[in-house]
Parts: sequence; C-alpha cells; structure tokens
Amino acid sequence: MPEVLVIGGGPAGLRTALFTAKNGLDTTVFDTDETWMHNAHLFNYPGIGSADGSNVRVTLREQVDDFDVDRHQETPVTAVSPTDDGFVVETADADNEYTADYVVLATGANRELTDELDCVCTDEEVIDADVTMETSVEDAYPTGAMVRVEEWQAVISTGDGAAAALNILTKENGEQFHDFDVPAVDFLSTWLSTASARIRPYSCCSRSGTPIA
Ligand SMILES: Cc1cc2nc3c(=O)[nH]c(=O)nc-3n(C[C@H](O)[C@H](O)[C@H](O)COP(=O)(O)OP(=O)(O)OC[C@H]3O[C@@H](n4cnc5c(N)ncnc54)[C@H](O)[C@@H]3O)c2cc1C
Repeated sequence: MPEVLVIGGGPAGLRTALFTAKNGLDTTVFDTDETWMHNAHLFNYPGIGSADGSNVRVTLREQVDDFDVDRHQETPVTAVSPTDDGFVVETADADNEYTADYVVLATGANRELTDELDCVCTDEEVIDADVTMETSVEDAYPTGAMVRVEEWQAVISTGDGAAAALNILTKENGEQFHDFDVPAVDFLSTWLSTASARIRPYSCCSRSGTPIA
C-alpha cells in the first residue's frame, strides 16, 4: 500500500491526511503542535460560525483519527530527502527513519525542510507550486505559507492540503479522483420518491415558461 507522510498537523496537513486516509491510503502525520490556529479565532471558515482556533484543531484531529491516520504528536521531523522510489523522513525521536511514496510538507511558515528537496522557487522566494500543489520535485507537495507570499488563511491552507491529496489520489487512481460522498440512502430514497412531484411544474411548462394544458 502506498504511504503518504504528512509533516505538520495544522489545517493543511490534517486536511491532506483526512482525504488520503479516508480513501484507503496508509497515512502518517508528524506534528509539533505549534499551529497558528492557537492564535486565531475563526469567523471565516466554512461551516463554522465562530470558533476558537485551538478547538477547530481538536475537531480536525478527531476527523483524521476516525480514519485511522497514524498521528505522531510532539514529533519533529528533522530531514526529508528524496530517494529513487520516494522519500526518507527522519524524526527527532530516537533518530527514527520513515519511508514514504509521497510527502506533504505542511509546516506553515517553517520552510526549513524544503531545503534538502531542492524545489524550484519563485521570484518571491516561495516554492513554485501549481494549483494541484505539484512542484518541480515529483510526489513532494508543499502547502500553505511555503507556496504563498502572504495569503495566510486557514481555509486557503485547508484547500492546499485537499488539492495535494486529490493529486496523490488521482495518481494512484490513474484518472481524476473526486472525493464525492452522497446523502445517506434513506434520505436519497425519500428524495427520489418525491422528485417527480417536485419537478412536475417545470416539465409541464413550455419553453417560454407558459404552463402546458
Ligand atoms: C494571530 C493570528 C490570527 C489568525 N486569524 C485567522 C483567522 O481569523 N482566520 C483564518 O482563516 N486564519 C487566521 N490565521 C491564519 C491561520 O492560523 C493559518 O493560515 C493556518 O493555521 C495555516 O495552516 P497551516 O496548516 O498551513 O500551518 P500551521 O497552522 O502553522 O501548522 C503547521 C504545523 O506544522 C508543525 N510543524 C512545523 N515544523 C514541523 C516539523 N519540523 N516537524 C513536525 N511538525 C512541524 C507545527 O507545529 C504546526 O502544528 C491567523 C493567524 C494568526 C497568527
């Protein structure tokens, strides 16, 4: 099974982990819990009226834990280097080494780990990534502040993490992957059984909108 290794447990990293683990990829996260979310109170995150950033971080963790992400807290990654068939990631705990097919760098404003990867940078000195989060280094996906000059919003990092995951899932799938879920079956059958009643007014109309006798 392919291994996705995510470095950083803020909105970007945990969103990647949710998408990849939910869709069957073996996913590991290393994090040191210094997310900027601890400083934030969110009024601008989809689906949330008003929430303390630290509490949102708790929910993000619960979501990945529900999909069996192997989450290592207080575990700093010290180095990432490319190999012939993926990456080697070193952590500070007893000098452990991990291998991975894909690596997602979600360390926020801390860009140190990208040095060894030698990703091409833009003139503004951020990593040059496209909208899928692909870079000059195949299967390495920097996100958030590493690829953005000053667009520092939780929802943007979340989107970066999701885009990286979708690109990984698309590679594994061999064609564009969509993480689409549908409503529960009971809801769907109720919707379908009443659908004809709901669409009748339109099907009984002429193209000009005049009801057909
Ligand atoms: C004062 C303040 C208020 C804000 N208010 C808002 C707001 O209202 N709305 C909004 O949308 N955004 C807000 N933000 C911005 C938002 O918090 C960030 O955009 C968001 O947290 C970035 O997410 P991220 O996942 O990219 O990085 P981060 O949240 O910074 O997460 C990075 C994670 O990587 C970990 N890490 C770093 N290096 C390593 C390593 N070597 N090994 C392992 N783990 C590592 C860190 O410990 C951290 O947990 C605010 C930020 C600040 C500072």
